[in-house]
Amino acid sequence: MDNSIIYLDNNATTPLDKRVLDAMLPYFIDDFGNPSSTHNFGKNSRKAVDTAKKNISTLINSTPQELTFTSGATESINIALKGLALHPSNEKQHIITVKTEHKAVLDTCKYLETVGFEIDYLPVNKEGLIDLRQLEETIRKDTLIVCIMWVNNETGVIQPINEISELVHNAGTLFMTDATQAVGKIPTDIIENNIDVMCFSAHKMYGPKGIGALFVNSESVNKKHILPLQHGGGHENGLRSGTLNVPGIVGFGKACEIAFNEMKTNATTILSLRNNIENNLLNIKGSFVNGSKNQRLYNTLNICLPNFDANVFIGKNKNIAVSNGSACTAALVESSHVLTALGLSEDESLGSLRISIGKMNNENDLQLLINEINNELNTEMVK
Ligand SMILES: *Cc1c(COP(=O)(O)O)cnc(C)c1O
Repeated sequence: MDNSIIYLDNNATTPLDKRVLDAMLPYFIDDFGNPSSTHNFGKNSRKAVDTAKKNISTLINSTPQELTFTSGATESINIALKGLALHPSNEKQHIITVKTEHKAVLDTCKYLETVGFEIDYLPVNKEGLIDLRQLEETIRKDTLIVCIMWVNNETGVIQPINEISELVHNAGTLFMTDATQAVGKIPTDIIENNIDVMCFSAHKMYGPKGIGALFVNSESVNKKHILPLQHGGGHENGLRSGTLNVPGIVGFGKACEIAFNEMKTNATTILSLRNNIENNLLNIKGSFVNGSKNQRLYNTLNICLPNFDANVFIGKNKNIAVSNGSACTAALVESSHVLTALGLSEDESLGSLRISIGKMNNENDLQLLINEINNELNTEMVK
C-alpha cells in the first residue's frame, strides 16, 4: 500500500493478511478442482474446504457441520431471517431487532414487513445499549427470532450478548446475532453464549471479500426449517447451492486460524493506539465519544467534534480513510441511523468521525490523523 495513504476504516473492510493470500494462491491455478468432483482434483479442493471449515468452527467453538459458506454477512443474514420466516412450516409472524443494526438486517426486516411480518425495532439508550427489560416485554408467543448484533460497526458498542441470549431462551424464542464486527476480534464462543444463529464475514478480519459464513446451531434449529434462497446443486446441505468459492474459503479459514492465535496480542496493541487518539481528541473543547466508553470494542472510536463537518474533512483528505456513517450509506449525505438512535442531533451526527483501527496501523498513522483534524479545526476557527 502507498505509504502516504492512511487507512483507519477497518470496520468497513480490512486489508488482506499476507499469510492469507499465500494460503489462497495455490487454489487458483494448481489446485483449482471443484470440491464436488470425485476425482483427485476435486478431492484436493474438498480437503482444503474441510480444513478451512474446521479452522473457522474452532474460532467460534461450533462443529464444522453447523457452518454454511455464503458470499458474506449480508447473504448469511438474508438466508437466516428470510429462510426461517418464509419456510412453509413457520407459523410465527413476529421478529425483534434493534434500531442500530446494520442495513443488512434492517432492510431484510423491512422486506419481511412488506410480506406480512411484524417487526419491533428496539430503541437504544445514549450509550447505544438496549434495555433488557424492554426486550423481555417485547417478546411474544409468536416471536420467531430475536436478532441483535454483537458489536456495532459504527460505534463499536458491545451488547451484553450472554444476558440477552439467556433472556431470549427463557422466553422460548430463538436468538440470532450479526457478529461480523466481533468474530476474530473478541472471543465469540457460540456454546458459552448460547447462540442459535450467527452471521459473519472474512473481509472484516483480514480475509478476502466475497466469503462469509452462517452458523446454525444443530441442537436448537433444524436446518430443514430454513428455506434456501438459492436453488441448484444442493451444495452446503441444500442451504446454499452453487460451486464453492474455494480460494475464498481457504483464505477465510486461514484468517480464522491467525485470529485464533493472535487475537489477544492484537487487541492489546490496538487498544493502546485507540486510547491514545481518543485522549488526544477529547482535549478538543466540546468533543465527546459516541456510545458507551466501557462496553465497546477496543478498535473503534466514534467521536463528535464541535464545529466540524466530517464530510468536508473526508472530502479534503482523500489520503486518509476514515468514515462518517457506515460505508454502505456514505454515498448519501444523511446522518447515520445509528447516531440518530443514540439521540444525536443532525449537526452532531454530521460532525462525527468513525476511526476504526486495525492490526496494520501504527502510532504514526494516528498522529497524522490528529494533525489533520487539528488543521481543519483551526481553519474553521479562522473562517
Ligand atoms: C460489514 C458488515 C456487514 C455486511 O457484511 P458483508 O460481508 O460485507 O456482506 C453486516 N453487518 C455488520 C455489523 C458489518 O460490519
